[in-house]
Amino acid sequence: MITVRWTGAAGLEITQGETIVLIDPYHSRPGKIECIFGRPEPRTDAIDRYLEGLPGKVETILAGHTHIDHVMDIPFLERRLGCRVIGSRSLETLMALHGRPGVVTVCAGGERIELTGDTAVTMIRSRHVPLLFGKVPCPGEINPACHLPMRASDYRVGDAFILKLEMAGVTLMHAGSASYIESEIKGHHCDILFMAVPGWGKTPGYCARLPRIVRSRVIVPFHYDDFSAPLREDGRVRFIPFQGMKGFIKTISRENPACEIRTIRPFEAMSF
Ligand SMILES: [Zn+2]
Repeated sequence: MITVRWTGAAGLEITQGETIVLIDPYHSRPGKIECIFGRPEPRTDAIDRYLEGLPGKVETILAGHTHIDHVMDIPFLERRLGCRVIGSRSLETLMALHGRPGVVTVCAGGERIELTGDTAVTMIRSRHVPLLFGKVPCPGEINPACHLPMRASDYRVGDAFILKLEMAGVTLMHAGSASYIESEIKGHHCDILFMAVPGWGKTPGYCARLPRIVRSRVIVPFHYDDFSAPLREDGRVRFIPFQGMKGFIKTISRENPACEIRTIRPFEAMSF
């Protein structure tokens, strides 16, 4: 059995026994003004508060791509936890900028990496949804000549992956970029598919084909919270405006009648 919690934005915490895998952890959540005009730094108090409540030991952190809302907190977390980090070449650049070269298991897509026990992750090559006027925001790779602290726009997308995590006999997929590449995803199956909502209508087949190709039985929408503000204490979600959450749920339900669509609140524990 695994327990999964959505930790806001594209963040997932997957626990088996005392072993924890984190995907795209993002607790700093700097505001829009800070992201546009400033050089946001990790909110270490928020991260530490989160770590204090963890039920086990973080063994691995995985990153789906290197936009700010997916990786900003990873350098601090890696130093705190001394855990393994798996992601793209751009993530390696980010860690090197923070004085930690060589700690990332660098992937380009297609790798299956064994973690401890019966856990494994497959990095499935994907792409990022063209979210803004038909374009991928902050394209390209993180520049190794960046100055710290980085501007939000310095966090370039790098390679994007769909992450397939096999743990305790359960397979979970994390589609945190609201897109996929059909030829890469074919042949990969999962029990639970986490689907990023923003930009969902801009990738043909994202709602209709992806869940069928991967044969998921449960779909969990996520990444729809407004991550430019802290999560609310009462667990209710502030939505990113104009992302069409209702339309997404309607479309995904219509196209996948056999799937259970599970809507969850941040930090609500789900067991599989
Ligand atoms: Zn992104």
